[in-house]
Amino acid sequence: MAIFFETVARDIAGRTGKLRVGDKIMRTPALLPVINPHIQLIPPRDMQEMGVEALITNAYIFHRSREYRERALAEGLHKTLDFDGIIMTDSGSFQLSVYGDVEITNRETLEFQKKIGSDIWVPLDIPTHPDADRETTARELAITMERLKEATMIMGDDHQLAGPVQGGMYEDLREKTGREVGDLGYSFCPIGAVVPLMESYRFRDLVKVVIAAKKGIPASACVHLFGAGHPVMFALAVAMGCDIFDSAAYALYAKEGRYMTQSGSYKLKELVELPCACEVCRKMTAEELNTSPDRERLLSFHNLSVSLAEISRIRQAIYDGVLWELVDERCRSHPELLKGYRELLRHADLLEQSDRVSKRRFFYRGTESCSRTEVIRYRHMIPRLPSGKRVQISLDGGTREGFDQVLFFKPPFGPYPAELKETFPIGQSELPEWDDDMVRAGCKGIVVYTQSNPGTEVTIYCTREWHDLVRQMVPGAEVKCDDI
Ligand SMILES: [Zn+2]
Repeated sequence: MAIFFETVARDIAGRTGKLRVGDKIMRTPALLPVINPHIQLIPPRDMQEMGVEALITNAYIFHRSREYRERALAEGLHKTLDFDGIIMTDSGSFQLSVYGDVEITNRETLEFQKKIGSDIWVPLDIPTHPDADRETTARELAITMERLKEATMIMGDDHQLAGPVQGGMYEDLREKTGREVGDLGYSFCPIGAVVPLMESYRFRDLVKVVIAAKKGIPASACVHLFGAGHPVMFALAVAMGCDIFDSAAYALYAKEGRYMTQSGSYKLKELVELPCACEVCRKMTAEELNTSPDRERLLSFHNLSVSLAEISRIRQAIYDGVLWELVDERCRSHPELLKGYRELLRHADLLEQSDRVSKRRFFYRGTESCSRTEVIRYRHMIPRLPSGKRVQISLDGGTREGFDQVLFFKPPFGPYPAELKETFPIGQSELPEWDDDMVRAGCKGIVVYTQSNPGTEVTIYCTREWHDLVRQMVPGAEVKCDDI
């Protein structure tokens, strides 16, 4: 295999890593700008100076371009585009799905992609629309899988193929396909046909299909979320384990006069200020930018800068183990994203398995924080906490005589012994004043403790404020208050 992926650091199911294609290496997560040589406003060379290590272009455009076809065949794609990083080529299956007029076979596109010197080749898969029924989805998926098998046979063992994972909205099909694509030896797996979900803000559905596909795709494979180009959803996608994005959005938005930020987009003409640190936004006012004859190019530059900065921010968040905080922040930008975030939290049990053990910190940011992987993991550890015949769990911080063991309490995690006071997550979690949700979550931890120590007599001490809630959450427990 000529494509290798190596994980460097992880957080939730996200990872920073290195993708090696032949002798070229790129860092992940990464955003691959989409290049169309006919309408390219920012030259690939300039993108390289902005820190872009890889880009994606469409082999089909080159294949039928009078201007570029022969040049790409003679000089190679890298020289034609003037870019020496990694270049991925799409096959034209997206055009097939939109226009239905692609007259090229799987073999033809693959051989063409190889001939023009592309680094990552995509077979001619069928991106099934999310609204397709099961029968259509399964039928198209079968054709895609045949083409993926054929691709490995045509291109040989030492190939540089991407294996798209299709399956529409059917989670079982996505998972099964992910597994089969891995079994075929693909180590670079785009999750396909999700653009309509993102365009219509169906982030909950997006999370469902990505999680399903990820269950099947081998953990060692690099995962590309095909067509994801708005920075507001990068953190959410990375948390699910997506490593690569591609963006035509930076240019498409610019064409429509839309100004991207990491928390959403604005119509440029409605902006009075330009809230960004990029070169364009520091040199111009909103009005100057909006009325500039060079608006589309300048806005493309800004949009791409914002997108790349968000990728850097995500990588840093992974190194620091604060990706949940970033996901929480981004997903509050829009109610549909919040739905996606909540759907992600419903899979916390699964995500916990790939999450790292220790992090820099845990900031409590509201109800959603109670379902985070760190809380789930802590709960799994509770049965191993020290026990005795008589145990005191202290919510008020006090200790009393006559017990074999004293446990303290930190919501949303639950009971902890003094020895764990300085370790993650107890020591590194920062909370505002306790609220009902976090105390409820912590009480679930107490229930885990009492159930895993059936012979132990547990007495809970708390202040009057939490007395009723604790009694309700830990039924049958002895709950005492010194101040009643
Ligand atoms: Zn800017």
